[in-house]
Amino acid sequence: MSPRPPLRLPVDGPGEQGTVTLRFLGAARTTTGSLHRVRAPQGDVVLDCGMYQGHRAEAEQWNRELPLDPGRVKLVVVSHAHIDHCGALPNLVRMGYRGPILATEATCALLPILLRDSAKIQAIDLERVNRGLPPHERKQPLYTDDDVEATLRLLRETKYGRDAEPVPGLVVRFADAGHILGSAAVHLTVRPRGGRDVRIGFTGDLGRTGVPLLRDPEPLGECDAFLTESTYGDREHDDESGMEERLAEVVSRTAARGGKVIVPAFAVGRTQLLLYVLHRLIHDRRIPNVPIYVDSPMARAVTQVFRDHEHLFDGEARQFVSCCGELFDAAKTSFVEDKHESRALNGLEGPAVVISASGMLEGGRIVHHVIHHGAGPRNTLLFVGYQAEHTLGRRLLDGERIYRAFGEQHELRCEVAEIPCLSAHADRRGIAAYLEALPERPARTFLVHGEAEKMDSLKGYLASRGHTGLAAPAPGEWFRIGD
Ligand SMILES: [Zn+2]
Repeated sequence: MSPRPPLRLPVDGPGEQGTVTLRFLGAARTTTGSLHRVRAPQGDVVLDCGMYQGHRAEAEQWNRELPLDPGRVKLVVVSHAHIDHCGALPNLVRMGYRGPILATEATCALLPILLRDSAKIQAIDLERVNRGLPPHERKQPLYTDDDVEATLRLLRETKYGRDAEPVPGLVVRFADAGHILGSAAVHLTVRPRGGRDVRIGFTGDLGRTGVPLLRDPEPLGECDAFLTESTYGDREHDDESGMEERLAEVVSRTAARGGKVIVPAFAVGRTQLLLYVLHRLIHDRRIPNVPIYVDSPMARAVTQVFRDHEHLFDGEARQFVSCCGELFDAAKTSFVEDKHESRALNGLEGPAVVISASGMLEGGRIVHHVIHHGAGPRNTLLFVGYQAEHTLGRRLLDGERIYRAFGEQHELRCEVAEIPCLSAHADRRGIAAYLEALPERPARTFLVHGEAEKMDSLKGYLASRGHTGLAAPAPGEWFRIGD
């Protein structure tokens, strides 16, 4: 088990001193709430400002009281738009931060969708929690729409591969991390006046090579300190090159018996990957030209951002655009907007694919589709992503056939299929390859964003490959860099 982060950390590392120091605050021996702080002569630089997701009380206190002094922070750099890397930004702004927030162009386009949705979810959640409570006991949201809008005004778009120096002596360069659209590995150079440069590399979340749609991770420059994620630090992914073939089989088989394929999928990344692969399969006549319904307003908005950034995709995808004109819209693809249209899908006749969120059946419109279509033996419930323990998705995948949802009991009578589908994170070989592609070995390598046992396993693996200076810091630990 990963240790829970302490509920409160002091704003300064105990005894912290040095020209440049690096302190680990969130995603330290755990996977959520990515937050690292560099103290430089120019001020503090914050790498990621993610939402910590965990038990309610603990998460609430951690996210509300970020261990940062907003007056000292001069620059925030965001690696990508996943909420565990950016979801606490409005909170930092609510605490008083008014400096620049650097992110790639696609991340800047995704952040409004993700952060506004996060504020909305909090408002809905609080309405439920506060129902019936007297006014003085009512909880306040971590942040509101106004905090989100104030945050978005601080965004500073930065292209991959170009130096940005938003604060004199603090130079940032982004490399494509190949994890989701817009994801970046960050290279930060601190130029102390009169001293030598101190260079810090941070993977954010590191993607994989050879996945459809996204470009492979691009290497970073020289680093004195290197921070790498370690989500799958103990694992080597299976060969998933048969994913398209298996998707084709499931869709063809279900369509042949006149059924529908119901796919729970996250609105950011996974949905677009599916749309792209389905479009290609239809184009190549490997599956019938079935109607595809995307039932998630967020997926619709995110897909538009993907369309606007086609130049960031891999060569194969760009070639597909030039031959077909479009990446995500097969001939019969529709995006369902309101709840009325969503309900109308229940009456749909004939084969179809319905993609909806949430990805683990924890709520959202997909649950209605599973209740309705899951009762039909001709249909298929298809899982394409990781299903966490205790979620409805995991229970159905594990064979549960009588389940409760929305206060009632239901029976699942359809086929259940799973395609182990292209994890968005590099495995330990990918992490090692990325580290070994640096122009020289960094003096220190810090493992972040992983459960403790996965980090320890990765540390052993990297040590066996001759890497030294490895650490998996606990929350609040700090290190001098570049001495
Ligand atoms: Zn991520």
